[in-house]
Order: sequence, then C-alpha cells, then structure tokens
Amino acid sequence: MADFETDYLVVGAGAIGMAFVDSLLDHGTGDILMLDRHPKPGGHWNTSYPFVTLHQPSVTYGLSHESLGDKVVDQAGPNKGMYELATGAQVNAYYDSAMRHKFMPSGRLDYLPMTEYLGREGDTHRFRTMLSGEEHAVKAGKMVDGRKFAAQVPAITKRKWEAEGVTVMKPGELGQLAYGGAQVPSHYVIMGAGKTACDVGVWLRQMGVPAKQISWVRPRESWFFNRASLQPGPEHIRRALDFPASQMRAAAKAQSGSEIFLMMEEDGHMLRIDRQVVPSKFHFPVISQGEVDLLAEIQDVIRIGRVHRVEPGRLHGVDGEASVPENSLFIDCTATAAPRGEVEPIWQGDTIVPQLMQVPLVSLSAAMTGFIEASFESDAEKNGFGAPGRITDTVEHFPEALLINATNRMLWSRSPAILDWLSANRLDPGARMMRELADAPPDILKSASAIRDLTMAAVPNLQRLAIAEQERAQVTA
Ligand SMILES: Cc1cc2nc3c(=O)[nH]c(=O)nc-3n(C[C@H](O)[C@H](O)[C@H](O)COP(=O)(O)OP(=O)(O)OC[C@H]3O[C@@H](n4cnc5c(N)ncnc54)[C@H](O)[C@@H]3O)c2cc1C
Repeated sequence: MADFETDYLVVGAGAIGMAFVDSLLDHGTGDILMLDRHPKPGGHWNTSYPFVTLHQPSVTYGLSHESLGDKVVDQAGPNKGMYELATGAQVNAYYDSAMRHKFMPSGRLDYLPMTEYLGREGDTHRFRTMLSGEEHAVKAGKMVDGRKFAAQVPAITKRKWEAEGVTVMKPGELGQLAYGGAQVPSHYVIMGAGKTACDVGVWLRQMGVPAKQISWVRPRESWFFNRASLQPGPEHIRRALDFPASQMRAAAKAQSGSEIFLMMEEDGHMLRIDRQVVPSKFHFPVISQGEVDLLAEIQDVIRIGRVHRVEPGRLHGVDGEASVPENSLFIDCTATAAPRGEVEPIWQGDTIVPQLMQVPLVSLSAAMTGFIEASFESDAEKNGFGAPGRITDTVEHFPEALLINATNRMLWSRSPAILDWLSANRLDPGARMMRELADAPPDILKSASAIRDLTMAAVPNLQRLAIAEQERAQVTA
C-alpha cells in the first residue's frame, strides 16, 4: 500500500526538475511531490568546485520569471566587458530561494531532499529517506523523470583511469593546497579537455601558477562559442543577431559539420584554444577570448588519446606515452558533464521525460515541457510540439542539433499559447532579443527578420548533413 499519493512525482531537483515544476505551478494544476538525493535543490551545482560559474551569461539560465545574477558587466578578469556569470554559490542560492519562497508556499508541493528514488511497479513508486534508511511508496498520477541529463561531475563520478604512486585531486579539492591539507606540487597536470578543465586552467593561471608549470592532457580539441557573441542587452544586439545569422549562413553551404565551425570562426563567433588543430569535439561550451588567451599559454599539451594509467612522471594513453615531472599533481577533470544518450518521447503516458527541445538550452526546454504539460491534453498533441534533440559530442552532430532546434521552433510557432508564453520568457535568447528590438533602428530590424529566411534556406542542407552523419554512425556501430 502507498504511504503517499500525488498527481506528479518529480525525481530530481536539478535545473530540469526545477524549471519543469516552476511552469507547472504557474500554469497547471495538481499536487507535486519532488525528491532528490542532494540536501538542497540545484542538482549538480551542489557538488561543484568553488570557482565554478555558469559559462553563459546568467540572464537565460534558471527559471522562467525569476532573474538570476546581478546583471552587471565584469570590469576585470578574462570576462571583462561582458555580463557577469553567476557563480555556483549564486545558482544554488537561486534554486534554494525558489524552493523556499515560491514552490513550498504554493501549498501544492512537498519537497523531500536526501531522498533516493528506487523504482516503480505500475503507478506505485518507491523511495528511501537516505539518512534514516526508511523506505516509502507513493502512488503517482505521473512520474517526471528529471534524471535524463543528470550531470556527471568529477566530485561524484568515479574516474576511469588508474593512478599509482601519484597524487590526484578533483577540482573541488584544490583549495586544500592553500591551507596545508596537501603538499604543493612543482607541476600540475590537467586531465581532460572539457569546460571543467578549462576552468581549472584559467584558475591555476589566475592563482599565479606559471604556464610552464602546467601540462594539459587533451585527447580531443574542442570548439567553443565565443561568449562575446551571446551577450544580452541592446548595446550588443548587432553582434547577437549576427550569431544565429552566421550559424545559418554556414549551415546552408557547409559540406560537413566541421565546416560550419570554421565559417563561424571567420565571423568571430567560434573560438578554439589551439589554432593549429581543427577541433573534433563540441559539447556547446562557451568561453571568452580572455580565457582562451590564458589557456593558450599552456604549451605542454599532451595528445596521446584517452589516458588509462598514470604513474610518477609517466602517462599511458591509447595512442602513446608521455612524460611529466615526477612531483606532478594530477587534476581529474575527465567526467563527461552531459553524456550523449539516446532520445525518447517526452510524454509516455504516466511518465514524462523532459529532454532538450532546444539543444543545449536545458532550462528553457524543461520550462517549455512544464508549460506544454499544463496547457495541452493528449500525449500526441504534446509530443507534436517537438522531438527532443541529443546533446552533441562531435562536430558532426551539430547539424542534427541545429535541425531539431529549427524544426521545434517552427512547431511552436503554430500555437498562439506557446508564442505568448515564450515572448515573455527570460530563458529564451531569441525572445529576449525580440524584446530588445523594440526601439531598434531599421537596419537592425531588417537583420532580425532575415534570420527566419536564413534558417529556412539552411534546413535542406542541415537535413542532408544530419542524415549523412546518422548513416555513418550506423555503419560504424
Ligand atoms: C561545471 C558545469 C557548468 C555548466 N554550465 C552550464 C551553463 O552555463 N549553461 C547551461 O545551460 N548548462 C551548463 N551546464 C550543464 C548543466 O548540466 C545543466 O545546466 C543542468 O544543471 C543540468 O541539470 P539536470 O537537472 O539535468 O541535472 P543535475 O543537476 O545533475 O540534476 C539531476 C538531479 O537528479 C537527482 N537524482 C538522480 N538520480 C536520483 C535518484 N535515483 N533519486 C533521487 N534523485 C536523483 C540528482 O541528485 C540531481 O540533483 C554546466 C555543467 C557543469 C558540470
């Protein structure tokens, strides 16, 4: 027999669960039981390293109507001249405040932190209160699975490489070096080539570590969106409008995913750390030129494929071996923040699996899912507003993501209710730009209206590139 009954059981109080529930509270009906293993809402931001920040400006992250961050322009550091990036602590405080001041006072939601979801039998789901070990059952009208994009951050992910006789730290442990909790090394080796690795590289440089005391294991090079092209505010509107325009111009004529990046780089919208190497990887990271300049000073880049073992002074990779100073500290940044899984329908009867309706806009996609759930009746109608997209891994996955985004936008535009909701929503960069165009001069309005035509013109080539990549993947599977 169930101990609880609810209309919606939401598993996961990360960015996805929180944005979904926020929309449901604003636009829907019914009771909600929300549970999460973490002690506070905010998902992986609870376990991030102290110097983590959003990599995108704060204005389009979080919940539909609650602003995040201070809306100030940084006056110093590698993000100088651009809107501030909320810190991990700010993101946590933001979600905590939403839970305490909006979600729980709504009278419709119960929140169970430190609670682990165990599984289901039909409409009855089991969970365990982690500190007492007690198990409970809940009968739910619908289960909302907010775990699909659960981030695999280094703090909670087991590393996949062996280390013998060397010191390994996670980014969150580096502070120990300041108060004697660990011996200060003569050399640092950054393991991994994603956004966390970049954050660590920038942080080491800012903490005064000379670039020559750092080695960096980068099995694959990555492209990055240039943060300067993603700035909110009327003062940045020309460049912000050229970003999607450039993307679609490139998408219309590129012969491969890789070419889209090279063309956008010429327009100033893409960055890479090493201009001698054409990157093969793209997980939608965002970086500034200032950060790239700091990182490019790290000259000892180790390219021996995936490293499977390290020992004093030596690294063993799938494509070779490399040497580093014996007293090196290895910093583990190898967790894949957002693994590329298969997609599935979002609405599946008594289960809802929020996914990316706009890649990679996690917050917007989950908020939209909550709004559609609250506003439409049948699963067929709801799923008709868009197939979810997969997060990209390689540059050749990018055309598929652009195609999904364009197609879903077209499907959304058929519903006045969705357009109304979107136009006032802070999470959509496109809607924000439209609001900022209110008093824009005619030439800017012309550029804005050209984006739709550029997108339509790019769709056939995007379809061709996406299909070619799917066929290639099938052959190599
Ligand atoms: C360092 C870093 C920086 C990032 N910066 C940005 C950015 O600037 N912009 C951006 O859009 N994205 C960014 N991301 C991507 C980020 O992953 C997403 O923005 C978002 O936070 C993911 O939210 P989520 O809810 O899918 O996952 P999570 O935050 O991982 O939340 C999932 C939740 O599910 C819970 N859970 C899982 N299994 C169970 C279970 N069995 N029982 C109970 N609870 C469970 C977990 O405890 C967790 O709280 C960043 C990621 C990282 C790692």
